[in-house]
Amino acid sequence: RCLDPNGATVQQISVCVRKRPMSRKEENSKNLDIITVPSADSLIVHELRLKVDLTKFLEHHKFRFDYTFDEECSNALVYNHTARPLIKTMFEGGNATCFAYGQTGSGKTHTMGGEFFGKVQDCGTGIYAMAARDVFEEVSRPEYQKIGAKITCSFFEIYGTKVFDLLLPNKPMLRVLEDARQQVVVVGLTEMPVTKVEDVLRLIEHGSKERTSGQTSANAKSSRSHAVFQIALHMPDSWGPYGKCSFVDLAGNERGADTQSADRQTRIEGADINKSLLALKECIRALSRQSSHLPFRGSKLTQVLRDSFVGGKKNKTCMIAMISPSMSCVENTLNTLRYADRVK
Ligand code: ADP
Ligand code: MG
Repeated sequence: RCLDPNGATVQQISVCVRKRPMSRKEENSKNLDIITVPSADSLIVHELRLKVDLTKFLEHHKFRFDYTFDEECSNALVYNHTARPLIKTMFEGGNATCFAYGQTGSGKTHTMGGEFFGKVQDCGTGIYAMAARDVFEEVSRPEYQKIGAKITCSFFEIYGTKVFDLLLPNKPMLRVLEDARQQVVVVGLTEMPVTKVEDVLRLIEHGSKERTSGQTSANAKSSRSHAVFQIALHMPDSWGPYGKCSFVDLAGNERGADTQSADRQTRIEGADINKSLLALKECIRALSRQSSHLPFRGSKLTQVLRDSFVGGKKNKTCMIAMISPSMSCVENTLNTLRYADRVK
């Protein structure tokens, strides 16, 4: 594989795909791995199909992306090629945004929040923490220390049209307001001052627990919500942050939740998620085309991330589409890859 472990060149919008390994359960149920990653920028889905006479044949779907990561790739390698090149954007006064997209169980939270050991998550190994490490390294340089630059973190969840602060006990609901200049404010959102990586790890741990507390089943609410973790750079005497990095663990994109088989609540959730993921695609496309029309009001997600999509060349975005290797997920996998393919 010809991935450079030190990272990538910076593009305004990059779209990458990460394939996770087969799970123990998938191995045991004799599920097949149907994804191959022949090079660092391509990927093939080998779909088993039936002809009308019921004979089987393989259909090969080939895709190209900026980077493709196979099951051997570590979080650190993925980070180096996706979010890491975006960190300096924040120090140049821009907004960098990194999205984890994919069906529930495809590895979004593993990539963003850190590896799981059983039910315990090692937050030090996620993109959130690796980004925080690089931010502190940069801000510790004399030119930033001299002027008194400060770092803050926020962590919130978007569930349907509601926003919840994950850094406060029992995650209170927050209001979102838009002023006359179309500036969007999440009223009362915690912006926690942090001075070292350990501070950030504690916030990630706390917020991740708040996100999943009281949930048991596989289709838990957390998989139906978007989680947004933000690191902001503040300069003294300026109103609002100088630059910002946002990391978004998106709601599961699997279809079916909004069809007739689901109950009413699940259908509403599914429709909301669908709407927000479509709005997200439109907003990223608007950014890539430097379009003056930004359809950010299409969903709560794109509304609160409005700053990520305006401001022209200064802003950078990266999407990591996560896929499961197994044959049983092929429909969701193809949906994910087609969405990712159309983002740019
Ligand atoms: P999602 O957040 O997309 O629903 P998770 O991140 O919770 O999915 O991952 C589902 C399961 O797969 C977890 O048990 C996780 O530990 C495992 N997993 C995901 N990605 C990887 C990976 N790259 N390597 C090893 N295990 C992974
Ligand atoms: Mg998750």
